[in-house]
Amino acid sequence: MTTLFDIPTTTVPVVDSDNEFPVRRIYCVGRNYAAHAREMGFDPDRDPPFFFCKPADSLVYCAPGSVAEAPYPSLTENYHHEIELVVAIGKGGSNIAVEDANEHIYGYAVGLDMTRRDLQIAMREKGRPWEVGKAFDASAPIGPIHPKAVVGLIEKGKIFVEVDGNMRQQSDLTHLIWSTPEVIANLSTLFELKPGDLIYTGTPEGVGPVVRGNIMRGGVETLGEIQVKVV
Ligand code: MN
Repeated sequence: MTTLFDIPTTTVPVVDSDNEFPVRRIYCVGRNYAAHAREMGFDPDRDPPFFFCKPADSLVYCAPGSVAEAPYPSLTENYHHEIELVVAIGKGGSNIAVEDANEHIYGYAVGLDMTRRDLQIAMREKGRPWEVGKAFDASAPIGPIHPKAVVGLIEKGKIFVEVDGNMRQQSDLTHLIWSTPEVIANLSTLFELKPGDLIYTGTPEGVGPVVRGNIMRGGVETLGEIQVKVV
């Protein structure tokens, strides 16, 4: 058998090492901070978490100390930033118990769940899938993976993003409605998790638009910062 053409494997560098984390799937959690659920017009009760996906090749790697570039996407006039903690899965499983979930984490990263908000809302109102609003090319900027073995469990700490120096989103991971272990446990009832999966854990309040020329600078405490210019 001959493979007709090569498709590049998406990888994310592991900080301070020669290792690269190969990416299998990207899962994202919707409405996981109460204040963000409210700003999107929803009551932040503790409904079970819900999920959507982005393609692995929608990642844009943001090297520390440099400014990555993301093209302004097509067919939107409301392109939004969502700063998020990203969990990298190192050990797979189904029906993972909450108390075992941390064993499945390889590490963490800072990510942006970039969103064509106008298209997402139009699809939502028609009861259609969110892909065109969420899963477009270059919709998932990400910084390097920080191994859990180095940084420990990330369960609290500041999360923020500013645009051209103006603070837009500022919260703390303690405000997650569903904690990282709870997200892993719930997601693993729906899909078998495997090494190489990434989970964007949701965004706090303050989402808003960016335009060409804006530079987003976002971070999570202990995981450093990423910078992305919209081009
Ligand atoms: Mn999000």
